Amino acid sequence: MYGYSGKILHIDLNERKHWVEEKPESWYKVYIGGVAMAARLCWENIEVGCDPYDPGNPICFANGIFAGTPVPVGGKYGLASKSPLTNVIGDSLSGSWFSIALKRAQWDGVVIHGASEDWVHILIDDERVEYLPAEKLLGLGTYETEEEIREIFGDDQIRSATIGPAGENQIRFANVTNDGRQAGRTGHGAVWASKKLKAVSVRGTHGVTVADPETLLQMSFDITESSQGPHTEKYRIYGTSTNMLNMNKMGLLPTRNYQEGVFEFAELVSGEYLDEHHKVKVIACAQCPIACEQMSLVKKGPFAGAMTGIEYECLQAVSSNCGIDDMTAAIRLVDIADRSGMDAMSMGVTISYAMECFEKGVLKKEDFKGEKAPEGIELNFGNGEGAVILAEMIINREGIGAILAEGTRIAAEHIDQEYDAETWKWAMNIKGLECPGYDARSLKTFAVGLAVGTRGGCHNRSAAYDPDIKGQTNRFTIDETRGKVAARSEEYAAVYDTLPMCKFIRRCFTGKADRAGAWPAIAKLINATTGWNFDYDDVDLIGVRAHTMKKAFNIREGWKEADDDLPYRWKHDPMTIGPSAGHVVTDEELKYLKKIYYEAKGWTEEGLIPKNLLVDLGMDDIAEEIGV
Ligand code: SF4
Repeated sequence: MYGYSGKILHIDLNERKHWVEEKPESWYKVYIGGVAMAARLCWENIEVGCDPYDPGNPICFANGIFAGTPVPVGGKYGLASKSPLTNVIGDSLSGSWFSIALKRAQWDGVVIHGASEDWVHILIDDERVEYLPAEKLLGLGTYETEEEIREIFGDDQIRSATIGPAGENQIRFANVTNDGRQAGRTGHGAVWASKKLKAVSVRGTHGVTVADPETLLQMSFDITESSQGPHTEKYRIYGTSTNMLNMNKMGLLPTRNYQEGVFEFAELVSGEYLDEHHKVKVIACAQCPIACEQMSLVKKGPFAGAMTGIEYECLQAVSSNCGIDDMTAAIRLVDIADRSGMDAMSMGVTISYAMECFEKGVLKKEDFKGEKAPEGIELNFGNGEGAVILAEMIINREGIGAILAEGTRIAAEHIDQEYDAETWKWAMNIKGLECPGYDARSLKTFAVGLAVGTRGGCHNRSAAYDPDIKGQTNRFTIDETRGKVAARSEEYAAVYDTLPMCKFIRRCFTGKADRAGAWPAIAKLINATTGWNFDYDDVDLIGVRAHTMKKAFNIREGWKEADDDLPYRWKHDPMTIGPSAGHVVTDEELKYLKKIYYEAKGWTEEGLIPKNLLVDLGMDDIAEEIGV
């Protein structure tokens, strides 16, 4: 087989043994790689209905089809487990060298079963697997752990995916980090800790064989050239942080725990401000000619020395959404999250929820007592120093940090019970995953895209904000087209997540990001890599299958139609200022939107998947288990 090894590595932490599973080419044609293959490996290997922290919840890596080839932005892998935040599929992506090392070690996927008794560091050295003690790595941050492992082996070719202290302490929104990139959002770090797994290191020494190297190389050169032009300028020059002012202008910038969509100090936390005052360099994932990571440094003040890469989603969560207008505090907060291995978006939204609890009198200053705040914290919106201390308390599960470490959904349940309050109405999550940086009250297509999302409140998996924001739909109203628009948007995104390729390349094939602009080129890249004969429709099916796979996993784990919901605030509390003021997504609107979305997917009224549809997609065994 070209492009793949045809082999999945299984590792059992209970028995400390491993074995190899061979998959036929037909399996790869359906599940391709990235999030689809990772979700499929979860489907095949999970103990159905298990708790995410149970040893029966596997860790599933699935490599990218283009990892280790010259194809730009194709150096990525998918990672999936049942998520401790959402109790459904937790599928993430991460880029860079780890995926290339895995490809060179000739593993298309790795499944880690069971749980270790002692902290362990797995080394995959081509076909050899070693179980190394990890005690000496405990307590080290994500970057430090990778550095220490390189020191131990004295080999720069060894690439590691690791967890930091946030993972070790099972913060429910802990990440897995490799090469400074995060497989984020759904709490992989906490699942790793439940298995006492600190790190997975890989050394690969083989080459990658493709079917048509000449075509692949020529296309890669052309796409690389195009990626240096206007199609990626926004990402290369400022990064996505330029969205701060655009979203603010539209009244969509999450502000003070999503109470409003306009932040009066947006200029002070904008991408432009970051560029002028803090940017020190731009870096890239391996195999990427775009380079969008704007490394920003705090040069003076209480947070001097903080340095990290900042993009829009993290920035809005820790600045406007916490009412913080101090860019140095925002950089420090993201820096803390990245070094400890914690999702900066979920952390920011959890802190903004705590701030609202404080401002509305449910939580008091003394509730925030900790080592660095013996008297407690006046946690008003805008208190950057308080937010930094609270972030550290979350990592260490210190005081109220232990409750907030569970994420907004569980934290609100706990606080409401203890204080006889209704703070769940301010807990901005969908299926337990904290919401992204686009207020959905006046993005009606995106609203349904988020509500039905298989991993919860995720902009990246839905992509339905695009037509609303670009004016292709009337963002304030609903009509019968929205179900289809939301369905096709998530399937579009799923193609990139399955190859996987970074979506920032989407205009670089022909100048147009739509299916007609990108799918023929992607089909050609797949064919040159594998020798297959994919066309436009086959590429389109990649997205349909990927999304269906994840949905099927959720159904089998107990998903119900009522789970496709929005936070209370977006349904009942309109904003009071700005261009989006006065809008909500009513229960009636959401019910209608879900109905037309399920119709567009070809599902039943209850959102279940008909058997024949699964069979048509080549998912016969799944049809048997969950098809109706
Ligand atoms: S554009 Fe940015 S996120 Fe995408 S692959 Fe390149 S560096 Fe990574």
